[in-house]
Amino acid sequence: MQPLLEVKKLKKYFPIHGGVLGKKIGEVKAVDDVSFEVKKGEILGIVGESGCGKSTTGKSILRLIEPTEGEVWFEGNEVTTVSSEEMRKLRRNMQIIFQDPYASLNPRHTVEKIIAEPLLVHGMTSAKERKERVQELLEVVGLSTYHATRYPHQFSGGQRQRIGIARALANNPKLIICDEPVSALDVSVQSQILNLMADLRDEFNLTYIFIAHDLSVVKHISDRVGVMYLGRMVELADKEELYENPKHPYTQALMSAVPDPDPDIEKERIILKGDVPSPANPPTGCAFHTRCPAAMEICSKVRPEFEPVSNHHFVACHLHGAKQ
Ligand code: SF4
Repeated sequence: MQPLLEVKKLKKYFPIHGGVLGKKIGEVKAVDDVSFEVKKGEILGIVGESGCGKSTTGKSILRLIEPTEGEVWFEGNEVTTVSSEEMRKLRRNMQIIFQDPYASLNPRHTVEKIIAEPLLVHGMTSAKERKERVQELLEVVGLSTYHATRYPHQFSGGQRQRIGIARALANNPKLIICDEPVSALDVSVQSQILNLMADLRDEFNLTYIFIAHDLSVVKHISDRVGVMYLGRMVELADKEELYENPKHPYTQALMSAVPDPDPDIEKERIILKGDVPSPANPPTGCAFHTRCPAAMEICSKVRPEFEPVSNHHFVACHLHGAKQ
């Protein structure tokens, strides 16, 4: 299947300024050479601890923050080089849902105005058409048409995320980047929103990049899953393959912390030593070597390539790569 989106060697470095003159004294490598593709209609989960660069990757793809280097191809367009006018048109097909629906919805606007705004931006000038579309979208996401006249503070967290989803769907996008969309919600509400998103994917033939720190959430919804650590993608595979046969020691440690639904199965928890190093000063070689229980001499010297170890399963680790 043709990929809808291709990300090639994406980098996002944030400068660090210091001293009296505020000169650049370093940089935070938030995203450091990340490559992957997303096929039409699939849900690619991206998982990792806080600060691993997963959200920055999502925002860089949409150019909500400008990437430092790399390419992002969407339906034959190189997103990072198009003009702002072309980018505006592309955004019609590339939307984002944020973690905190309350912060992303203007508290002074009614739900109708919030959902209608992207319709107006992309040329739906008729107020009647916008009103009808808003009502249609409210029903699609499980809200009622009378909600249109209310304000964000009058809704629960789950309902607010439904409003965020309705706004993202307004212009019939092809790709939605979901940036921790259920992290701020109660567990009972999380599954409702996840089920809604899965249904919408099927109904509207959507493609998602689903970013989360919770492996159970990502497992619930994704077709493939990528694992990020300190700005780099360290493993990527089909969901079943990744959860049953994780290859990278970091993925294995993350998996060991997920409780098994069967209480009779006892899992040995892999406790990682130390904290995640600073992305302003990442370790040399494999960025995970300071915490890896399987680290070898080569690991601190040579950065492992992100390579296929089997069909559709990629790993960046000397235990599995050509440099073993
Ligand atoms: Fe561990 Fe070395 Fe593999 Fe990195 S390359 S994950 S340090 S074994």
